Amino acid sequence: LARGDNNTMSLQIERFELSDLAVEVLRETQMIDGGHEYDSRVMPVFINADKSLIKQAMRILIDNAMKYSPQGKRITLSVSGEQGYARLSVQDEGIGIAPDAVPQIFDRFFRADESRARATGGTGLGLSIAKWITERHGGHMEVLSRQDIGTRISIMLPAAPEA
Ligand code: ATP
Repeated sequence: LARGDNNTMSLQIERFELSDLAVEVLRETQMIDGGHEYDSRVMPVFINADKSLIKQAMRILIDNAMKYSPQGKRITLSVSGEQGYARLSVQDEGIGIAPDAVPQIFDRFFRADESRARATGGTGLGLSIAKWITERHGGHMEVLSRQDIGTRISIMLPAAPEA
């Protein structure tokens, strides 16, 4: 990334339809991961954003869903409009996150014990990058997780006003 400090990196903002991008990323994912079931539930929502950064954030969430859910489980990508926001969420049926770890998952280098014990590598940077990208666009992230049931992580981005 070409950048000065956190807030001076210039974004390449364009208006685009988020579910188009989600479907594109899902197709690419299905080509490299034959181990999970994939599903999408998308509604058209336009945003003004840096497409490549949003794509990167989306990939981080999908990558986590892949790493922290067993083979054969379903991963669902959703896009919907919600009170001025576009919600992009990735839901899995994986190991989940302990309630006391949830507040820490966006911290740089944080990895829950369960994931450190797993064979899947990881640096603990993914979600902190996704959060940085999201906040740089005026958005925020939400987590819903239950251990051994699954996790849904959402990126909430301001929806673009009507053209
Ligand atoms: P990497 O930087 O390579 O992505 P990572 O996956 O460990 O490594 P993050 O993406 O920042 O790093 O996630 C931080 C931690 O949050 C993970 O180590 C894991 O404990 C937990 N976590 C994130 N996503 C999920 C998920 N979908 N299910 C269960 N735990 C998760």
